[in-house]
Amino acid sequence: MVKNLTFWFFVSVILMSLIQILNIYTTNNSNINYSTFLSEVNQNKILETQINGKKIEVTRKDMTKYITYMPVYDSQLLNMLLEKNIVIIGVTPDSQNFLISVFFSWFPIFLIAGIWIFLMKQVQNGSRKGALFFSKSKAKMLSKNKVKTTFLDIAGCKEAKEDVSEIVEYLREPQRFQKLGGKIPKGILLVGPPGTGKTLLAKAIAGEANVPFFTISGSDFVEMFVGVGASRVRDMFENARKYAPCIIFIDEIDAVGRQRGTGVGGGHDEREQTLNQILVEMDGFEGNEGIILVAATNRPDVLDPALLRPGRFDRQVVVSLPDLVGREEILKIHMRKISIANDVIPIVIARGTPGFSGADLANLVNESALLAARCNKIAVTMLEFEKSKDKITMGSERRSIVMTDNQRESIAYHESGHAIVGRLVPGHDPVHKVTIIPRGKSLGVTLFLPKHDIFSANRQKLESQISTLYGGRLAEEIIYGLDQVSTGACNDIKTATNLARRMVTQWGFSDKLGPLLYTEEDKEFFLDRSVSQNKYFSDKTIQDIDEEIKLLIDINYQRAKKILHENIDILHAMKDALIKYETINSLQIDDLMSRKLVRDPEGWHLR
Ligand code: ADP
Ligand code: ZN
Repeated sequence: MVKNLTFWFFVSVILMSLIQILNIYTTNNSNINYSTFLSEVNQNKILETQINGKKIEVTRKDMTKYITYMPVYDSQLLNMLLEKNIVIIGVTPDSQNFLISVFFSWFPIFLIAGIWIFLMKQVQNGSRKGALFFSKSKAKMLSKNKVKTTFLDIAGCKEAKEDVSEIVEYLREPQRFQKLGGKIPKGILLVGPPGTGKTLLAKAIAGEANVPFFTISGSDFVEMFVGVGASRVRDMFENARKYAPCIIFIDEIDAVGRQRGTGVGGGHDEREQTLNQILVEMDGFEGNEGIILVAATNRPDVLDPALLRPGRFDRQVVVSLPDLVGREEILKIHMRKISIANDVIPIVIARGTPGFSGADLANLVNESALLAARCNKIAVTMLEFEKSKDKITMGSERRSIVMTDNQRESIAYHESGHAIVGRLVPGHDPVHKVTIIPRGKSLGVTLFLPKHDIFSANRQKLESQISTLYGGRLAEEIIYGLDQVSTGACNDIKTATNLARRMVTQWGFSDKLGPLLYTEEDKEFFLDRSVSQNKYFSDKTIQDIDEEIKLLIDINYQRAKKILHENIDILHAMKDALIKYETINSLQIDDLMSRKLVRDPEGWHLR
């Protein structure tokens, strides 16, 4: 595209300079200077002069001609010529010249306009013959032998896999379905957060059905020039028809498929045209051609309803974040490609990675492999997985932070407080590990591993969480006294308060207020104002809400305090262990909790 533009630019530059040269050549055609001319006049050699401003076309008596120019306007020339009886012819001032100069001064503009019109024609025709500019679709094609992805490469989205597997059947034997007059679906919309394997799924459909796979991103359609996107769509479908049956995958369809008429600022005309073209093309093929469009988005809510109408993207397949079992399977898939040591237990890693997407897990495996390679290991061990997981979830270790022994001790007490309360309240997730190595924003971390993914929590568990959150601050308070409590607990307080507030206002866990919603659900974390400004509640209710939250926190705060007082020996022992090891694992915490000698960490627990 750029190449073509430069080509035309050079052509016009060359043309213009040629014209310039010609121009100079024709106008400076004076072969005789003015003084020679004057002397020829005196010598009676001249027959006729044609005067055009300063330019004089001279005809000698021997009928030879030349041109000369007056250096300044010579008013005596006329008298002189009359004296010598030379014919004087006037010319309409510069008539000819005027036209030429107009032409020359406007020519570059004409040229540029011409090129522009030509370009736009090209673009809008979407012609792929002549000099191809923007119109060629950017879709990348993988021919059917190149698509190696199968359903075996995907895990953790069983439902989605089942949903799309019927598409594979359609593509394999379209006739079987058409015989009964059934229409094969044209469009499938994969909906899900980034990195959950939507692209992978689309590719696997092509791989399983052994058909070519076209892929393009919605943003590839969006260009500066109106009409480019639309012609790209046209081009893409034209191409796909040649290779049907095939899959066209449009990633990020929300880039073009947003609701029409909602665009802000310029550029939405272009988007609308592109979207319209997609709709036209989709309506144009009858499904029998065997082209199936698969589009992906994580924002189905912003899509234009026209896209989702029957006959278009009428099938929606939800691809969600993998659950515990899904994560384990995804880890296993990616571990197939690297050499893994015997101590690696995928389920343990899966348990420590709630909320990870497939792409995150793939990244985790890769990071671990790189780490192992950096340490010249022959296989990736659990240690590398733990390290990369911590790096991804908690940020990199910041060992460079300079801390005094006193600070380290106070952090150790704080984290021990969390861990001990966490172990001793009912229904709490098991404490997996405690560390006082600063990471990311925090100075220490107590890590809990849920045994199952949390979809909902019960009241007991939530109350236990509140107690645990205060454990850190309470430990500092008990050891150093109220005056010495650090600000390190600010995040704990915030989390605990929010939790208590939601228990009261959203989840109906307050006996006094009952199971009513006292807030808007999507305004989770700043309920203060939304509640107090809410005109549906009386002042009394708002006061009650505050009291209930306070009460809930108070009860759990006191419980944590009691637990720590009763186990103050464990608190001291755990602090010592943390100062010694920096990180203690669940086995060491077991020892501490049963007041045994702390064992040394081993294997992957070692760090
Ligand atoms: P999306 O298109 O949903 O953003 P991708 O399909 O591009 O996600 O996923 C990126 C990479 O993450 C894939 O190439 C694959 O290695 C890995 N991945 C994501 N989801 C899964 C999954 N469900 N199973 C296996 N690998 C996955
Ligand atoms: Zn804390």
